[in-house]
Formats: sequence, C-alpha cells, structure tokens
Amino acid sequence: MPWISDRIADLASAFLTQAVVTRKTALSDHFVRVDLRSDKFRSASWTPGCKVQLRPETGTLGMRTYTPFAWDAAEGTTSLVGYVHGTGPASRWFDQVKPGDPCELMGPRRSLDLTGLASSVVFVGDESSVGLAAALRETRADGVTYVLEAADPAEYTEVLAGLGVTATVVPKKRHDLLDVPGSGAYDLVVTGDAATVGPIRRAARDRTPRPAKILGKAYWAEGRTGLD
Ligand SMILES: Cc1cc2nc3c(=O)[nH]c(=O)nc-3n(C[C@H](O)[C@H](O)[C@H](O)COP(=O)(O)OP(=O)(O)OC[C@H]3O[C@@H](n4cnc5c(N)ncnc54)[C@H](O)[C@@H]3O)c2cc1C
Repeated sequence: MPWISDRIADLASAFLTQAVVTRKTALSDHFVRVDLRSDKFRSASWTPGCKVQLRPETGTLGMRTYTPFAWDAAEGTTSLVGYVHGTGPASRWFDQVKPGDPCELMGPRRSLDLTGLASSVVFVGDESSVGLAAALRETRADGVTYVLEAADPAEYTEVLAGLGVTATVVPKKRHDLLDVPGSGAYDLVVTGDAATVGPIRRAARDRTPRPAKILGKAYWAEGRTGLD
C-alpha cells in the first residue's frame, strides 16, 4: 500500500526543520558546499561534531546524514559539504540543488563530541569526514594531525586546504599509511568507510602509546545506503 508510506512521508514534514539554501559552491568536481539558513537554527543546540539528517527527496522517508560546520546561531546559518560519489539521493541533491531551494532536515543531534579532546589529536577519515574535519578545524588551529584516505588524494587535499585543513591524504585501502601513532597524551578520532574504521580502531588499542580516548564512527559502508 504505497499510499500509506506517501501519507507518512507527508506527515513527516511537520517534524522536520525547514531551511533554505542560500549559497552553493562547487569546491571541486566531487565536493559541494551548501550554505543553509533557518530561524530554527537560532535556538538549536549545536556542538562541533553534531550531525543533521537531511531528506534529499521530498515525499520519501529516506534520510541522509551530514556534519554541519560554520554554525552561526545569531544569523541562523550553517554549512554542509557533500561528497558527490555517485547517484544516491543525497549525492544527487548536492549536485542539483540551487540557491533558493528548500532543505528539510532533522537535528542537529549529538554524534561525535569534538569538545574536550586532548591537546593532541590524530584525525583519520575519508571524503565523508570532510564536514567533521572542518568542524574540528574551527575549534582548534593546532595540535591535530589529519590523515585521510580518498579516491583522488590530490583533489581532496585541495578541498581540505580550502576549508583551512592541512592534511595528508593517502590512496584508499592503504590502512598502513593511515595508522599514524600519536605522541604523549593524545585522542584518536576515526570516521568514514566502515572497512577502515574497524581496523584502525582495533590497531589503536595495540599501539604504544595508546590513544587516551577513541571517538569512532562508520559513516558509510559498501553496498549499504543511508547508514546511521
Ligand atoms: C554522522 C555522519 C556524518 C556524516 N557527514 C558527512 C559529511 O559531512 N559529508 C559527506 O559527504 N558525507 C557525510 N556522511 C556520509 C553520508 O551520510 C553517506 O555517504 C551517505 O550514504 C550518502 O548518501 P547518498 O544518498 O549519496 O548515497 P546512498 O544512497 O546512501 O548510497 C549509495 C551507494 O553509495 C555508497 N556510498 C555511500 N557513501 C559513500 C562514500 N562516501 N564514498 C563511496 N561510496 C559511498 C553506498 O555504499 C551505496 O552503495 C556522514 C555520515 C554520518 C553517519
């Protein structure tokens, strides 16, 4: 009975925050920054590392998760960067959206809390970690070693630099290159491909010195849609 799910999807609109796209910036062939504004953002509780879940296709129940940064409660604005990796609903949304378009979303909600990290941090991720890297960069200019994997390391290095993040970007599936030991007391933040997050977390436990704290979350997994 498809009309039941259509009706539920219609009703869901009432519970979603309605925002508007104020600007779209192509950062490269595969990365798009979208700036959003909503009066609801003024009163929302946001901390660096929070997530939002956007509904890329009106009239459906499919949500996709992104990491807002540049959160400005006074102005009611924030930004997302989407990695346009294929033809999933969110990739299409980032590709096709234009200023003035609506954006329906839930959140911000807690995901990884980037406040209260040690003064030294090792940040491991991939293209889907782009928003989290930008959010962490805003909280601190120093003390973070960013090591990320990407299908196109040169492209991603430049995108990250444009967001103020100086990173070492290695080819995908080179877990050995991602396994960067910290020194002294440090925390590890690891996000991105589920196939990477697991091995890095396990390897970190045997490392000397071990990270004092590990914040880890798989952001996507091969063959699965809308993880989270
Ligand atoms: C807490 C959290 C925060 C996130 N923040 C961001 C962010 O700031 N920016 C961002 O770009 N992404 C972010 N992601 C990841 C994003 O939600 C997923 O990549 C999402 O699946 C994309 O939706 P889609 O509709 O394009 O593809 P889907 O319909 O979900 O998937 C279609 C196909 O593409 C594959 N796929 C999904 N993601 C990727 C990828 N990154 N690389 C290669 N193949 C992929 C899937 O395995 C599937 O086979 C975040 C995820 C979580 C859980």
